[in-house]
Parts: sequence; C-alpha cells; structure tokens
Amino acid sequence: MEQVVLFPSGPVSYYYGSTFNKVWDICSDKEVIFITDRNIFDLHPAIFENKKTVILEAGEASKSLAVVASIISRLLAMEATRSVVLIGVGGGVITDITGFVASIYMRGVDFGFVPTTILAMADAAIGGKNGVNIDDVFKNIAGTINQPSFIIYDNQLLTTLPIKEWSNGFAEVIKYACLFDAEMFDELSQHDLTYYRHNESALKNLIMRCAEWKNKIVAEDEHEHGNRKLLNFGHTAAHAIENLYKIHHGEAVAIGMVIAATLSEQVLQLTATTTLQLKNILRGYELPTKLDINTHEVMNVLKMDKKRKGDHIDYILLEDIGKAVIQPLAFDEIENVITICMQ
Ligand code: ADP
Ligand code: ZN
Repeated sequence: MEQVVLFPSGPVSYYYGSTFNKVWDICSDKEVIFITDRNIFDLHPAIFENKKTVILEAGEASKSLAVVASIISRLLAMEATRSVVLIGVGGGVITDITGFVASIYMRGVDFGFVPTTILAMADAAIGGKNGVNIDDVFKNIAGTINQPSFIIYDNQLLTTLPIKEWSNGFAEVIKYACLFDAEMFDELSQHDLTYYRHNESALKNLIMRCAEWKNKIVAEDEHEHGNRKLLNFGHTAAHAIENLYKIHHGEAVAIGMVIAATLSEQVLQLTATTTLQLKNILRGYELPTKLDINTHEVMNVLKMDKKRKGDHIDYILLEDIGKAVIQPLAFDEIENVITICMQ
C-alpha cells in the first residue's frame, strides 16, 4: 500500500507491507548506492548481490563525522554523481547517517530508506531528522532535517532481528500508544512480544499506526517548535540514563516512561492504575520498569539538558493515555519522583 505524506519540506512515499524489490520499481533507471551495516549485509547477502554498497560497522559508534567522511570518499571512488539515489538499509543508525550524508554530498542528493528494525520502522526512519554524534556523547548534535523520498517496509527483513532489538523497538511503539492512542494501549496490554513476533498482520498494523501518528505530528511541526516535542515522552530521563549506564535506548525509554508516568500522577492526577498498566505492558514486551541508579548522578546530567530553563525543565507528561502535555517541572520535584519510583 502506497501512501504519500506531504511534509513542509516535501512529499515522502510510504510503501507499507511491501518488499525490498520495490526499490527497483522506484529507482528503475537511476544510479543506486546502498548504505548498510555489516550484520545486515551478512544476514541478507542476496539483496546486495552485485550492487554498489557501502558497508559500515554495526552500532552507534558509526554515527560520527569520521564515518561520514569515509562514506563520502567511498561515494567519490564509486563515481556517484548528483543524480545518485542513496538508500539506507538498516536500523536507526543507518537511516540517520544515510540521511545526513545524502543531505550534504554534492550539496544534497536523493535518498530513501528500507528500515530493518522495529525501532526504525515505527520511529527513527520517519520525520526527516538525521545526523551524527560528536565525541560519542553529544548525540545527534550535527545534522539536518531533510525528508527521504521514500520508505519501504519489508517485514521479511525482521526474521533475523535479535530479540533484544524487538523489545528495544517496542519501547517506541508503547510510547506512541501512551501519547496518542488509548485503543493501541489496550491492544498492547492484551498481547505480548511473542504474539507480535508471530502475527505478521498484527505487527504490520501496529507499525503503520505508529508511523501514521509520527507523520501527522511531524507534518504539522517539522522543526519541533510545538507538538513534535511530545515525541520526547520518556526520553528526557532516558537520555541521561542511557548515557550513564550504557543500557539499550529502548530499555532507557521504558524506564523514562515509568518516571514520566509517576510524575504525571503527582502533577496531573494520572491514575496509579494507568502507571501500573504501563508497567505491565512494558514487562509483556520484555522491557525493564526500573533500574538501580544513582539519582544524584542522573539529576546532574538532566540539569545539563538543553531544555533547561533555570531550575525548571520542560517535561512531557500524560493527563491520561492519549492526552500528552508539555509541563515545566522543578528539578526538586523530578528528583523526588525518581528516588521513589526506582526503589
Ligand atoms: P536502531 O536505532 O534501529 O535500534 P541500529 O541501527 O543500531 O538501530 O540497529 C540495532 C542492531 O540491530 C545493530 O547491531 C544492527 O546491525 C542490527 N540489525 C538491524 N536490523 C537487523 C535485522 N533485520 N536483522 C539482524 N540484525 C539487524
Ligand atoms: Zn527513542
């Protein structure tokens, strides 16, 4: 099913329930170069056979300016012209770096994505944000907002995805349910990770629903002046925890959502039952609901957040499932709640 979404910076074609070979319909007469990582290349060799491909090391460390420079050198060696189409085949790391390289190579060339993780399909590949980290710690600090021409969804590629990456991706899926979709929240609470791993049509629908929520928000606020900020639900504490304790992004987001829900109980009267439901859902998708952390350490990192305004920070909270708001919170208040809910 093809769906064209019109963003302020241009249209993007979404091919849901498609296959990798759609690439050849879309780019039939074009010069195509794939960018992927070593794991995906080794697990799916047939799709890259005899195709120009840049293979990166798997993992977040590839999101660096040094790797960007090395990709550009490879593109030059392959004699890629301004009419090349760069296609990122991979998870969020690959789509972020492909979008960035395509935005700057010869001042910008066409690009598309074939996301291969749940996280990239439901979230990271969508919305046009791309970029790299600086010095490993300043995440996504150098980048652009630039939409791909197309995103192709091929669930076959998920057959090789490690279980850890499935739960990692579901953290973002659960995020979309909390923010916008009480019905999806109910659906998630009635099933678990095993169900979606073995029920392709349910998974397809779920991913498409997340993608549509994200498209709607980004189409209205591409540059994050307003509602796009809501997509940071669970991410304020998550970024701090992820950096400090080197856990998976999805795990950190799961814990961040528990903290945000508990804060929402205190500040906005979200019911304790809702927080409990959220924790149960997280467990069903093999995600943690707490972590042994040093609250002071976490607070020190939070205080360096770019969203800080004096002794407050803008936090994404829930009035209810499907009703998210941006709320300034005092650091003291946050510290108390983190201490309580991580015990
Ligand atoms: P994400 O931000 O989407 O979680 P990554 O790009 O870091 O992103 O991917 C997570 C890990 O999963 C990487 O080690 C990557 O090589 C691996 N991976 C991605 N897609 C697949 C797949 N379909 N099968 C097997 N491994 C995959
Ligand atoms: Zn995230």
